[in-house]
Amino acid sequence: MNVTDLIRPNFIQLTPYSSARDEYSGKEGTFLDANENPFLSVTGEAFNRYPDPYQWACKVRLSEIKGVAPKQIFLGNGSDEAIDLLIRITCQPKRDNILILPPTYGMYKVCADIQEIFIQEAPLTADFEIDLDAVFDAVNSATKIIWICSPNNPSGNLVQREAVLQLLKAFPHKMVVVDEAYIDFSSQPSFISELPHYPNLVVIQTFSKAWGMAGLRIGAAYAHAAIIQILNKVKYPYNINQLTQAKLLESLENEAKKEAYVKEILELREHLAGQLKTMEIVEKIFPSDSNMLLVRFKKAKELFGFLLESKIIVRDRTNVVLCKDCLRITVGTIEENEQLVENIRAFENIK
Ligand SMILES: *Cc1c(COP(=O)(O)O)cnc(C)c1O
Repeated sequence: MNVTDLIRPNFIQLTPYSSARDEYSGKEGTFLDANENPFLSVTGEAFNRYPDPYQWACKVRLSEIKGVAPKQIFLGNGSDEAIDLLIRITCQPKRDNILILPPTYGMYKVCADIQEIFIQEAPLTADFEIDLDAVFDAVNSATKIIWICSPNNPSGNLVQREAVLQLLKAFPHKMVVVDEAYIDFSSQPSFISELPHYPNLVVIQTFSKAWGMAGLRIGAAYAHAAIIQILNKVKYPYNINQLTQAKLLESLENEAKKEAYVKEILELREHLAGQLKTMEIVEKIFPSDSNMLLVRFKKAKELFGFLLESKIIVRDRTNVVLCKDCLRITVGTIEENEQLVENIRAFENIK
């Protein structure tokens, strides 16, 4: 398969904006090419120069950690940027569609709606696994992306690896995106290791969850270099700012800290699940491979309102397909989880 078969023809031909930093990428020199302020920033800091448009230092370091070539990495302003751009580079508005597997992360549909790209849906099974028959039924000739979220949000579970592999094999001319925002919390390996076998595979990860960098906005897409090249053409030239690039580099030297956080959060999750399990109001706790628990409650909506009054904010998923009476709970600190549990007990006592 030719990777460019996946891409909208106008983006293959597109001549991207050529920034000053594209034309000369050396570090040393007298820079009179970008109309920057030659002094410092007005804050006294050194933000007066444009940042590296391709975040090369970050990618070189990240490539060592992830075991892929730097040219197979795209960095975005959150993985939300990657989601938006992947739809943009593959789908023609008012003609093409992406296939999503509800219940899943809301941004896929929002990005598609914004771009006037159609949505095909193949709901997950009741235990949130891929329904292969439903996928085969829903895919059509205008489908450009099959979108899988694993571990899935809001259900929290990893989907069966074998089902994803089957889709990669069955649809070599469609892009298969695996959103691994929560992969750090899972015991299973990332699909990044499958990239050499499937040129149609794109893996998305983020620094917003396990790495604790949500406020800085950094996400990554890993794919065949030809796909990354197109993403680079279409993105804003300086999509990752200098401060974020510096903090990302710093964070990559602290992978052990991320691992320690993951270990702690998983212990806290098990503890919280253990407490919830004993409660009369809890009907089901869905298996989780992430830092969230999807929980089915009796009187879920009422409980949600009650918690909100105590300023305990969980995510109301009661109106989401297959998530009837479910709240999604992010694992917090020991104190936060205790507060939650105490308030659920208080709700039980008055109801
Ligand atoms: C949180 C989340 C993201 C993350 O987005 P960022 O833009 O990187 O913060 C992506 N996908 C899923 C499924 C998520 O839950």
